Amino acid sequence: GVLVVGSITADVTAFSARFPRRGETVLGHDFTLVLGGKGANQAVASARAGARTWLAGCVGRDPFREIVLDGLRAHGVELDQVRTVDGRTGVAHIRVDASGENDIVITPLANAELGPAMVDASIAATAGKAGVLLLQLEVPAATTCHAAKAGRAAGLTVVLDPAPAQPLPDDTWPHIDLVTPNESEAAELTGVEVTDAASAERAGRWFLDRGVGHALITLGAGGAVSVTAAGARHFTAYQVTAVDTTAAGDAFTGSLGAALAAGDDVERAIRRGMAAGALATTRPGASPSLPGRDEVDALMTG
Ligand code: ADP
Repeated sequence: GVLVVGSITADVTAFSARFPRRGETVLGHDFTLVLGGKGANQAVASARAGARTWLAGCVGRDPFREIVLDGLRAHGVELDQVRTVDGRTGVAHIRVDASGENDIVITPLANAELGPAMVDASIAATAGKAGVLLLQLEVPAATTCHAAKAGRAAGLTVVLDPAPAQPLPDDTWPHIDLVTPNESEAAELTGVEVTDAASAERAGRWFLDRGVGHALITLGAGGAVSVTAAGARHFTAYQVTAVDTTAAGDAFTGSLGAALAAGDDVERAIRRGMAAGALATTRPGASPSLPGRDEVDALMTG
């Protein structure tokens, strides 16, 4: 199984022909309210990929709590490591215009309450059941860093999606088995401008130099570059017609984690992640766009 330590939000999205100017009001034509947050999205991706999946995260005491818990439950994520804390559930406030451009304000709220003690309790509660730990950076960085150390000590395979990118303490990197930044996150963390496979390899080496076992730089339609001490390898993307690339990275990481937990070798797990990422771009939205295991199998066997 897979343990995800991460964020849970209610994604509140308004769709309008164009964005309002500062101080202006425009009429929209659609609105959605769905489960989101990188932690929740990766948990859903992992569960849909067939892994028993626990999410350690925090929600508040408000009506959004029921909406996000319903979303997690509907996709088969185990809820016993989701804590309800005082205050409000985290919110991502999203606007989308006719061209598909978006802007987002994330208010962490309950997500700020996820602390090291909760992480330790969740690692203990899932001991012997979860073999892979998925981490991102939408919860307090100190919590993620603690989770990496505690997860490594507990014998879990630790996967970090360093999004949104932010500098981490040097002593965190050696606890990461696999890091999965996209181009912009890799660039922000390493200072290497990532534009192609060669620059992705240079960025990947930055993580290895700091003690990470395996760097996987995702390049959208350009596929992914895998860098280990044994060398670098470019995986080309599956061919699909992309309509909305939201959550491709979450589909990739969640599905990769599920495959590793199922005992797939890392190359096959990378391919499963890439197939899930490709499929997620063929449908609009975040958690509703995440593919199931059968669809991934179908794309992989062509
Ligand atoms: P993020 O959403 O974090 O920016 P990416 O866009 O790099 O992540 O997507 C993650 C993975 O999903 C890629 O490595 C690739 O395999 C797959 N993917 C993403 N976009 C496409 C696309 N347009 N066509 C095919 N595969 C894609």
